[in-house]
Amino acid sequence: MRTLLFSAALAVAAVSNSAWAQTPIAKPISDWFDTQGQDLFGIYCNLHQNPELSWDESATADLMADHWRREGFDVTAQVGIKGVVGILRNGDGPTLMLRCDMDALPVTELTQLDYASTKDVSLPSGVSAGVMHACGHDIHMTNMIAVAKYMATHRQDWSGTLMVIAQPAEEKGEGARAMIDDGLFTNFPKPDFAVALHVSGDTPAGQVGVLAGFTQANVDSVDIDVKGRGGHGAAPETTIDPIVQAADLVMSLQTIASREIKPSAPVVITVGAIAGGTKHNIIGDSCHLQLTVRTYGDEVRKQVLAAITRKANAVAESYGAPSPELLFSQGTPSLENNAELAGRLREVFKDAIGEQNVLVSEPSMGGEDFSRYGREGVPILMYKLGSVTQSRLDRFAELEVPPPSLHSGHYYPDFEPTMRTAVVTMTAAALHLLKK
Ligand SMILES: [Zn+2]
Ligand SMILES: [Zn+2]
Repeated sequence: MRTLLFSAALAVAAVSNSAWAQTPIAKPISDWFDTQGQDLFGIYCNLHQNPELSWDESATADLMADHWRREGFDVTAQVGIKGVVGILRNGDGPTLMLRCDMDALPVTELTQLDYASTKDVSLPSGVSAGVMHACGHDIHMTNMIAVAKYMATHRQDWSGTLMVIAQPAEEKGEGARAMIDDGLFTNFPKPDFAVALHVSGDTPAGQVGVLAGFTQANVDSVDIDVKGRGGHGAAPETTIDPIVQAADLVMSLQTIASREIKPSAPVVITVGAIAGGTKHNIIGDSCHLQLTVRTYGDEVRKQVLAAITRKANAVAESYGAPSPELLFSQGTPSLENNAELAGRLREVFKDAIGEQNVLVSEPSMGGEDFSRYGREGVPILMYKLGSVTQSRLDRFAELEVPPPSLHSGHYYPDFEPTMRTAVVTMTAAALHLLKK
């Protein structure tokens, strides 16, 4: 059945990729891919059917280490608890780091593919859920096994040091920090460049998206404890109602983005949770708000967080209430693709898969901890990898429904054209950055 699926996917891909598979850059890699595709599909299915949650990626890390060791990489496991680092030295030249992430999500798979994940997990909250590679990290890992193998078996074509890393806990925004803190750039060579890709659920397979500058946001969480004075619901004059105050604050927060920050700087302030009170006729003592705050630049971030504090205090004062308590937790910093690296690799990708297949991708207000390698002073590029065939995207358009987003139980990449594009573009990037 796997063979059948793969062949069917191959037929689709033969149409979409025939044009670019023949360019001088793509052809040797694409021809090599033809000899490896079946094995890679097996590796992919294995990863897909055995997903592991953040910080639980033991079998996945072993699998990555085994593959890289087999190709002659000097492999170190348990860097940042579950992370894996592979080094292949091949003469003089720069060091290039390629990164993939290993963790899956507590999402029940609904794709009905014959290789769908059937794994379940009981979460710390007691809720049970399925486990699924709903963010496509299994594609990222399979690609990195392929690219490492190509580079190891074509050493005559490049010179320098190739560093491959498999990172844990991306979905928690913690894995990159853990690997860096565990000596990623001190016990191993500090790279001259770092490149990663991420699947996209609404970009056609066979295409990639590149964007210089900010592509992912600063992620901050804010907890606000709005304080009041409780009492009888029928005697509001004896109380300071924290719920009315909280409602006022929720609306007031929305004017930060619209009135205080310049329109060209995107800001999101979402109050995702609000909790207060126990019963119809009781005015409680407090109300708790949980916010996610997204920004790009560090200056705007500071300005927005200061404005949230000011608004919370001002609303409290206007009600004669005690000052609120605010707790700020910084998540992942914003991801800024190095402009020069983005420019260079955009040209490489155009030469490899054709100008029409290299899109300018849209920035997102999501978070990605690949950004942390950039914050350590390494020029980074994360590009988008199309993962859904144009014909399948067309069907969604006809039905007037958006294609399933990443993290949806319905999301799945079309393996063959997606993987071929990943392997060709990332290998082409590596050969370019490590050219003799
Ligand atoms: Zn994700
Ligand atoms: Zn992801």
